[in-house]
Amino acid sequence: MPIRPISRMGHPILRERARGITPEELRSDEIQRLIDDMVETMREAHGVGLAAPQVFEGLRLITAEVQPSPEDEDEGIPLLVLANPAIVQVSREMYDDWEGCLSIPDIRGLAPRHIAVRVEGLDRHGEPVNVTAEGFFARILQHEIDHLDGILYLDRMKDLKSLTFIEEFEQHWLPREEEADELPG
Ligand SMILES: [Zn+2]
Repeated sequence: MPIRPISRMGHPILRERARGITPEELRSDEIQRLIDDMVETMREAHGVGLAAPQVFEGLRLITAEVQPSPEDEDEGIPLLVLANPAIVQVSREMYDDWEGCLSIPDIRGLAPRHIAVRVEGLDRHGEPVNVTAEGFFARILQHEIDHLDGILYLDRMKDLKSLTFIEEFEQHWLPREEEADELPG
C-alpha cells in the first residue's frame, strides 16, 4: 500500500468541489486501493483525518482515525471511511479550538465549529452509514467535509490573529492554555 503525496495549499485541487462516487464505483479495485492508500498516508503523516483532494483525487471521500492514548484515558476514534459524506444535522452551539491541516504544514489556528454533527454517507462497501459525532470527532468531520467543497480551516477562522507556527504555538500559546486549564471551576 503506497503512501501518496499530500497536496499543499496553493494547489487548485484543494479549492475545487470534489465529485460524488457511485456505490458501484466505490467497490472498484481502483477506489478500494485509493481508500487503503489514504488510510496509510493519514497514519504515516500522523493525521487524524484526510480527504481525497489532499492526495490529488477530486472525489467525495474522507478518512478519520485517532489512536487511543491510554495515559490520557482517551479511547481515540476508530477508523472511519466515508464516501459522499453529508452533514445532515448540526448543534446550534459552536466553539473555537485549534486546528491544523496536512495541506498547510506547521501552522495552527483557532477555528469555530459546531459542537455536534450528524453525518450520512456510504461506507467503503457502499452501504449507508449514519454517524453522530461530538467535540473533537465532530471537528474532524467538519474539517474533512469542508475539503470536499474546496474550503480550508483558514476560511472558517473569525480572524487570523491566532494563526501561528507550531514552534511559536508551543512557546507562546500552549503555556497560556495550560494556565487556563488550571483555573478552578
Ligand atoms: Zn485539512
